[in-house]
Amino acid sequence: MRIVLLGPPGAGKGTQAVRLAETYAVPHVSTGDILRFVVAWETEIGKRAKSYMDEGELVPDELVLELLRIRLAQEDAASGFVMDGFPRTLPQAEALDKILAEIGQRIDGVIYLEVPDELIVLRLSARASCPTCGRTYNLLASPPKEDMRCDRDASPLFQRDDDRPEVIQQRLNVFKRQTHPLIA
Ligand SMILES: [Zn+2]
Repeated sequence: MRIVLLGPPGAGKGTQAVRLAETYAVPHVSTGDILRFVVAWETEIGKRAKSYMDEGELVPDELVLELLRIRLAQEDAASGFVMDGFPRTLPQAEALDKILAEIGQRIDGVIYLEVPDELIVLRLSARASCPTCGRTYNLLASPPKEDMRCDRDASPLFQRDDDRPEVIQQRLNVFKRQTHPLIA
């Protein structure tokens, strides 16, 4: 089973991807995780990815696709995967199709998580995380026991700059512009 999850930031793609991956006993392939993982590799490709991330730049498609090609060829992905975070644009989807064709695979299904903008703004602006252990909280749905402190290590929680409401709206606009042609 090879599934791609599409949806705006804050739609819950990561959460649903983990559940689907469990259900179908296939790996959850997220480009964010691959990138975090690969920068630890002392390889040429790991170093290239790291140089973009260190500069706070987007890793170019061509490099992400190269990493996906490696990831999808690994043994645990032989019977399928649940992909989230990629593709986001039509050219990325076409490139992914090409890679899959080369390794004799194809996508079985695409799930688009549709969530109203207001709800996304509400959800993401309630998101906070711990700078020490990386745990994330939703201040509405699953707040920490003590106000704005991590349950695990009591560090003060922080909210990401890009989770401010005006930035969220901007991220949603980017999503619509980039991904709607893909959804269509
Ligand atoms: Zn913590």
